[in-house]
Amino acid sequence: MLDFATPSIIPSADHPASYCNSLTEYSRRTTITVPIGSVPLGSDYPIRVQSMTTIDTMDTLGSVEQAIRMIEAGCEYIRITAPSVKEAQNLENIRKELRARGYDTPLVADIHFTPNAAELAARIVEKVRINPGNYADRKRFEVIDYTDASYAAELERIRDKFRPLVRICKEYGTAMRIGTNHGSLSDRILSRYGDTPLGMVESALEFLRICEDENYYSIVLSMKSSNPQVMVEAYRLLVHRLDAEGLKPYPLHLGVTEAGEAEDGRIKSAVGIGTLLEDGLGDTVRVSLTEDPELEAPVAQALIDRYTRRAGHAPIPAIRHYPIDPFHYTRRKTHEVANFGGINVPRVIADYSEIPVTEHEQLRPIGHFYLPVPDKWRMNDLGADYLYTGSRPVSFMLPNGLKEILDYKTWLTAGDRVHQFPLLDTATYLNLRQTPDALHPTLNFVETRLGDWSEELAHALAADQAVVLVVRTENAHAMAELRRLYVDLINTNLTCPVVTLRSFADRQGDTLQLYAATDLGGLLVDGLGDGVWLATDQLPAMPMEDRLATANRYNSIAFGILQAARTRMSKTEYISCPSCGRTLFDLQETTAMIRKRTDHLKGIKIGIMGCIVNGPGEMADADYGYVGIGKDKISLYRGQQVVKKSVHADHAVNELIELIKEDGRWNEPENEV
Ligand code: SF4
Repeated sequence: MLDFATPSIIPSADHPASYCNSLTEYSRRTTITVPIGSVPLGSDYPIRVQSMTTIDTMDTLGSVEQAIRMIEAGCEYIRITAPSVKEAQNLENIRKELRARGYDTPLVADIHFTPNAAELAARIVEKVRINPGNYADRKRFEVIDYTDASYAAELERIRDKFRPLVRICKEYGTAMRIGTNHGSLSDRILSRYGDTPLGMVESALEFLRICEDENYYSIVLSMKSSNPQVMVEAYRLLVHRLDAEGLKPYPLHLGVTEAGEAEDGRIKSAVGIGTLLEDGLGDTVRVSLTEDPELEAPVAQALIDRYTRRAGHAPIPAIRHYPIDPFHYTRRKTHEVANFGGINVPRVIADYSEIPVTEHEQLRPIGHFYLPVPDKWRMNDLGADYLYTGSRPVSFMLPNGLKEILDYKTWLTAGDRVHQFPLLDTATYLNLRQTPDALHPTLNFVETRLGDWSEELAHALAADQAVVLVVRTENAHAMAELRRLYVDLINTNLTCPVVTLRSFADRQGDTLQLYAATDLGGLLVDGLGDGVWLATDQLPAMPMEDRLATANRYNSIAFGILQAARTRMSKTEYISCPSCGRTLFDLQETTAMIRKRTDHLKGIKIGIMGCIVNGPGEMADADYGYVGIGKDKISLYRGQQVVKKSVHADHAVNELIELIKEDGRWNEPENEV
């Protein structure tokens, strides 16, 4: 593999990150407009919502009815798979029936491997999506050593295969998405660039240059991955490369592939999509959940809605020197304070300031539970690390290494200097820091906002090895303001660990998990944050039962965000495809069944894919794969390698578990009750 480094980015006052308009003022990236039927796409228009049908494309009425449910749920484009010419042809019937029923929503044909289906579909629907990883290539998982000449010859072969489609799109006024997927890069791209964001970007640019050579510009671009960190880096790099090469600012379609289902799927999607939307990137959003497609649109809409009133937020000082590499993950350098920072995983702080803890059972919602027989405390994989109890110390000894954070005044009189630590505001900390014995000798939490930042604070932190900062903000452009504070810390070489605290009024519904995942995940994917703390000021108004349920929910969301940002793996990771017309089994049912048997296998990644055509590629970095290959037939994978072929669906889950056992990665689930 040649060493193609990411283009060197020299952050400067004029262009601090070179992938977005501003890191401190919300501003949507300006793009060209791409006409797509009656719903144009680009920065002159609202950010669009879209999704994909899951019914067999040959089932015309089923597809139409599902498309209508999706449109009524908010989808502005409907994507339908066209695996071969016969499905591409049937798009005509689906389109006619939809139009006859009064819906003019543009249709998008989803193409993999079949240029002839693409060329037919481009004459029928408003947009085609091609995957540059498999449009002209069939993956053989081969590493070929390309010379410059043989690589150029390959590109010429691709040009010959791809050019007819471009010309048809141009003639028919059909738009195109060049949609790279991390999991299905071609052998050619992998050989030269590796499995990297740069490879993803180059994969799209090779096809884009062919389009531009044909003077065809109705193009939308996407860089999807099931790993939000990779996906964020790839989109940023794409924008940077478009600008650097003088290519047009094409609209972006945002998505995290195979995000999974329920809370984990929503959090993973928000960490990827929300992070980019915060910086003004993205013109259409597809959230891929292993759920019915009409359930995806409201999630996408909730992510988008947050930005309709974002402009005009409280000002944030501009960044003169941006020290973070937006294209490669690097964790901010910190020294260790207690179990924060250094090489420790980010910690989770549970907010119990409005929950007086008097009984063991009250800690169960945050993963610590007491078993009367055999008279022992246990902790599950979502056991919080710290408990913030404000002015109400817990009345018994905390279990499992769980520690307590108290408001400073309460801490002074609480008396336990081993398990209890104080929380101070910045002014109190600065006043007391030189008073003997006023602070804890090893761990003090200091709450800070960007407005508290001062030279005095910087000097104090530089001289103090016993502080963990707790940063928070009330700015509507929260992630950017918090990031700004982290930038000051890095630029002044301060290495104290930092916990990010976000407080939300909303304690229910999708928005809490989506917004928390965006704000905290957006920092974590850039290596910022040694702990997360979710809070709400709504607790006092709730009955105690609801307060405990809220604590449970916040705790689960906090761990989910750390997992999605790949900074702390505490659960089994499911990379399950959203299903489509190619799907060979009931994905929702199968995913639930696999989850039920394996969700105690912390840190293991299991891909559950509906078809053999895209499945193995799409499950990217999964440790094990469960892939449909025919009716009731499953192939099981270890990494990218198929190890059990054509297993009957009735015993495929047992075989999967056997495989995990053979690898010594199985353990029996523990019973919490
Ligand atoms: S992996 Fe799933 S979503 Fe992707 S093409 Fe196959 S069945 Fe459809």
